[in-house]
Amino acid sequence: MTDSCSRLKFVSAFFFFPVRSLLGRIGMRWDISAIANAYYREEFNRVPAAEKAVVLPHCLIDEKCQARFSKEEGVLCVKCERCRCGEIRDLCEERGWQFYISPSTNFTKRLVQRRGIRAALGAACDFEIEKGIRSTRITLRGVRLKRKKVIPQVLLTSRYDCLHNDIDWELLRRIILNGAGGV
Ligand code: SF4
Repeated sequence: MTDSCSRLKFVSAFFFFPVRSLLGRIGMRWDISAIANAYYREEFNRVPAAEKAVVLPHCLIDEKCQARFSKEEGVLCVKCERCRCGEIRDLCEERGWQFYISPSTNFTKRLVQRRGIRAALGAACDFEIEKGIRSTRITLRGVRLKRKKVIPQVLLTSRYDCLHNDIDWELLRRIILNGAGGV
């Protein structure tokens, strides 16, 4: 896709987002996170590893999670293997990326500020994505979180469930290993 085509697609997808249910009735539907991921992909891959972070939502951790909570860094995974967060934490450490499990969107915004994160790979359900679009300034140069712009890549959670959620863990691994858009 050419730069101008991708930009036009991105701008249109967000411009018409508020009336998407109306347009859906005449058969016009689009996957906003796929369009945004495609648009930001190259820029995301250009950010150095140390300024990249995987920031996962706490709905992905196991009910019997052994982690402690830190006000500074969120859920501190101890790699108990009850969920796959520990494995992703290991992979991030190997590749020099930062890794966090966040209890809330506001926590993530403060984290980005504190830790100098320039590109964030996260996961969210449709509801959180929609809430984020309504409450966050999304620009062609990134998503504004407090005073910082961050280049995002988002994986959709497979369930609309705050307790037993799941994501495509293999895709997450491939993005860390090969870059966004990598296979
Ligand atoms: S692997 Fe980490 S995040 Fe997952 S349940 Fe264990 S301590 Fe919690």
